[in-house]
Amino acid sequence: MAILELRNVDKFFDDFVAVDRVSLSIEEGEFFTIVGPSGSGKTTMIRMLVGMDKPTNGQILLRGEAINDVPANLRPTCMVFQSLALFPHMTVGGNVEYSMKCKGVPKPERRRRALHFLSVAHLPESYYDKPVTQCSGGERQRVAIARALAFDPEILFFDEPLSAIDYRLRKVLERELKDIQRATGKTFVYITHSLEEAMVMSDRIAVMRKGRIAQIGTPNEIYRSPNSHFVSEFMGEVNSFKVRPEKAGSLVDVESGRAIIVEPDAAPAGFKAGVLVVRPEDMLMGRQIPAGAACILKGRIVNEYVLGSRVQYQVRSGESLYLVEKIRATEDAEGIGSDVEIGWRPGDARVFDEP
Ligand code: ADP
Ligand code: MG
Repeated sequence: MAILELRNVDKFFDDFVAVDRVSLSIEEGEFFTIVGPSGSGKTTMIRMLVGMDKPTNGQILLRGEAINDVPANLRPTCMVFQSLALFPHMTVGGNVEYSMKCKGVPKPERRRRALHFLSVAHLPESYYDKPVTQCSGGERQRVAIARALAFDPEILFFDEPLSAIDYRLRKVLERELKDIQRATGKTFVYITHSLEEAMVMSDRIAVMRKGRIAQIGTPNEIYRSPNSHFVSEFMGEVNSFKVRPEKAGSLVDVESGRAIIVEPDAAPAGFKAGVLVVRPEDMLMGRQIPAGAACILKGRIVNEYVLGSRVQYQVRSGESLYLVEKIRATEDAEGIGSDVEIGWRPGDARVFDEP
């Protein structure tokens, strides 16, 4: 049975629909992430899941029982905010022990458990007596997680906890969070606007757009088989072509009139017009690209962006710019100003039935 289920949940603010008929289930022990651009309704969703807000319509069920009317403090769940909301006048240990103190757990037992949660959250035991005000941003993040774990909730919710943290530390904390989730076996429901962050940590991801779920799947499914132009663009840069049908096995690039070979079932049934999308890393590029490409575009490299182990080339062909990504070490050097052919294999493109 799902630990948490939403059935046709709406949230209106006056006439504005912030969450629109959302249904989903989250399994016990899952790292489930809700991802979407700013304003897509993520915080509104999590506020209802935690009990800080009530749905306008629909039901929220915890292990099959409706909990719409159960207030946040009576739910077996706990939220970690971006602001962390630590008690500034307390030590690290005081913060972590707080919920146990409220429950009347005796001091030695509290301390023993607090030290355990500190180590789970990758903090040294010596931090127990440290004032939280003397902790760095990353350490405070770990204290907030230890405090949430000490509450012993069935589900931990996180609303963009890492968004104010610099890139390198964020990468470390993303992995730590995943480790903590695995080690504790707790259900984590995580919110972020960064699909990259979601990919690293999650068992499953729900992509939100304008209050609705655009797609739910594993990171690999979302990345490899996006179900819409929106989801494919949300994941990262893509090359997009406006296309219309021509004959079986090919489409026409509306801009250039060029035929593009596609796999037989690439376009949705009844396809009339839409977009064809190719990821930069699926692009072929060379002085001459191999036979069997979906189409060949002749162009010139106009920019080069080094991304560490990979490099992206911007190629101008006619009026359009395309992005090609290569693993640097395996490619012949292609410099700015080189004339090249670009294309892709028919199986590497996706076609969506929308503008
Ligand atoms: P996200 O967390 O994805 O950035 P939110 O859930 O905070 O998005 O907001 C979704 C939409 O709902 C936004 O357009 C926001 O302005 C609106 N909204 C959120 N809370 C309220 C509120 N209390 N009153 C009116 N509108 C709200
Ligand atoms: Mg938000």
